[in-house]
Amino acid sequence: MPASYTRHGFVKMPGNRSVGNYTVYIGAGSNIGNKLANCQNGIESLIKSGGTVLKDQSRFYKTEPVDYQAQDWFINCVAKIETAKNPFELLHTLKSIERDVGRVADPVKFGPRILDLDILLVDNLVVTSSKLVVPHPRMHKRRFVLQPICDIDAKIIHPVLMKNMQSLLEMLDEDEQRIEEYRCAY
Ligand code: AMP
Repeated sequence: MPASYTRHGFVKMPGNRSVGNYTVYIGAGSNIGNKLANCQNGIESLIKSGGTVLKDQSRFYKTEPVDYQAQDWFINCVAKIETAKNPFELLHTLKSIERDVGRVADPVKFGPRILDLDILLVDNLVVTSSKLVVPHPRMHKRRFVLQPICDIDAKIIHPVLMKNMQSLLEMLDEDEQRIEEYRCAY
């Protein structure tokens, strides 16, 4: 079936039918190869993996690397989905999509990657396990996560910190983590 475009120009599967039990925010990032296409294809693969509908999509951003600086800038975005997959099934799907695009074990922690897909928020669930932590444990410190989430809904409450996304964004140091909108021709 043909794809359509959201207000930020990304592929959305036809219809706005709710298929799932979970509303999830997914972070996508890439700093190797065609970064924009890697993010787009990653989210598209997730939607095609079944039981999952794209509800909204942030703008794309060019973002300065955090933690490990000696690498190229990233492209990042956030997608809001509804899915019938439980958080562990979803993690399994994301990891297999990353592998399919050629991501191998990261030689450097926080280093270059062809595609990173993270589970940021799942409804207002809190998950703490060895394989999965939700909300994502670093999301509240990352401008490249908070800014795109605010494109979609700045009022979502972080279920552990009990602050909304806009206030978490405002708590970041202004001089750190430069990001700029990546204006692309779709
Ligand atoms: P990453 O470096 O982002 O690919 O993540 C490395 C590992 O973090 C994954 O293999 C997951 O088991 C684990 N992980 C824990 N919490 C999350 C989360 N919320 N989203 C994605 N990965 C997670």
